[in-house]
Amino acid sequence: MQHYLNYIDGQWRDASRRLTVMNPGTGEPYATIAQAGIEDADLAMAAARRCVDSGALTEVRPAIRTGWLLKAAEAIRAIADDGALVACRENGKSLNDARDEFLEAARYFEYYAGMADKIEGISVPLGKDYVDFTQYVPFGVSVQIVPWNFPVSICARSLAPALAAGNAVVIKSPEISPLAMTLLVRAVEQAGFPQGAVNLLCGKGSEVGSHLVKHQDTNQIVFTGSVPTGQRILRDSAERATPSVMELGGKSAAIALADLDLDTLLASVKVGIFFNAGQVCSAMSRLLVHRSRYDEVKAAVVALAEGLSIGQGEGNPDLTPVVSADQQQRVLAMVEQARAEGARVLTGGTAPDLSGYFVAPTVIEATPDMTIAREEVFGPVLVLMPFDDEDEAVALANGTDFGLVAGVFGEGLSQTLRLANRLRGGQVFINEWFAGGIETPFGGVGLSGFGREKGQEAIYSYVQTRNIGIRLS
Ligand code: NAD
Repeated sequence: MQHYLNYIDGQWRDASRRLTVMNPGTGEPYATIAQAGIEDADLAMAAARRCVDSGALTEVRPAIRTGWLLKAAEAIRAIADDGALVACRENGKSLNDARDEFLEAARYFEYYAGMADKIEGISVPLGKDYVDFTQYVPFGVSVQIVPWNFPVSICARSLAPALAAGNAVVIKSPEISPLAMTLLVRAVEQAGFPQGAVNLLCGKGSEVGSHLVKHQDTNQIVFTGSVPTGQRILRDSAERATPSVMELGGKSAAIALADLDLDTLLASVKVGIFFNAGQVCSAMSRLLVHRSRYDEVKAAVVALAEGLSIGQGEGNPDLTPVVSADQQQRVLAMVEQARAEGARVLTGGTAPDLSGYFVAPTVIEATPDMTIAREEVFGPVLVLMPFDDEDEAVALANGTDFGLVAGVFGEGLSQTLRLANRLRGGQVFINEWFAGGIETPFGGVGLSGFGREKGQEAIYSYVQTRNIGIRLS
């Protein structure tokens, strides 16, 4: 089995402990990785602090950072095929999706390369006696805590703008699925960033993650993960009032109107809830359908779910395994709870007879008060509900504590827009789930978090404003 290392202060380092990474497609051990401890975290933090204090990232022309970021993008592209195989085997995701993740990571570096030299302040008019202007300055050391569902692209999503803005970064990879991220960082290493600008630690969240969050040298926290962990981090970072970006979970609803186009809707259901085995923060986990079309959509969605190919990621099936045995058990237990609460499981809800951690594509008819309709499942489980009018659709869609994304499907522009304006969420998709790209701002409201990633706006998540006022004599 191959053994992977942590990256600290420009060196790849082993640790006395190691974590075993399983292949979710087979249920077999796949590789091991050095498990960082507190001492490693302190070394990484010290390296990042030295890098910040040296001015190596900030006292250069911003175009120098552009150059580093572009080189990183090129190096990431060059390893996309090799990296995809590792991501596919450690995570269970399809090979094609894993490759796309690396290509998306490269795009983040290209995109923010173009912004590194465009972080411009403003001049504030105060009359003839003053000159006043603003500067955007980096936070310093950005601690970035990454989840396992899209480790490569989520890592790049935060790392690229942080570096573009001139921060040094300490990344905490997830315990599950940390390997492909080491390949991403190996590629970034080739770009020539100053020593200590990028550090990568794989360790336990409760140990290393928690230590980084409370560390005196942490100037910013970027957390992507579950609501309970995000809440814990907010409590732990309150003492030092450390600023943070919180990218948390969701229970996102699509509203299908009476004039929906069935093919358009089904194409979105397929990716919306079954892509990455439903382990997507912005998954379409609820589908609300106008009663006049409900039976037709229900039959079509069940047929879609039952027609999906299922298998290991390397064969690029429609549905891949979930990430771990625990995750499989958690998802199946939530389906059982739904049954116990009176929901109707229309299809799925079982583990197919395959080696590996599979959950059959599942469609459940539920009412809004049931747990399955309110809580994030993070698996291939779609909840279906009918509605009678716009007000009811909006109330249902907005009726959870989350607010990550929402969607509307219908032919009429004014009705879809009218509804979009009433939906609670950082982004609303009309007639295509996941419409948008790395160029469009992404983030949540409510329990889904705060701060924005992606798009031009995200660069301002990685800087703080300093105003300089000058009294003219
Ligand atoms: P998780 O909260 O269990 O873990 C996320 C990361 O936090 C891991 O690296 C973990 O080691 C670390 N961690 C755990 N405890 C910690 C602590 N006390 N202090 C510091 N770090 C700690 O989440 P997960 O299971 O890896 O990911 C799935 C969740 O992430 C889902 O809820 C999903 O919706 C969410 N997510 C959100 C987005 C988004 O952009 N909004 C994207 C992907 C995933």
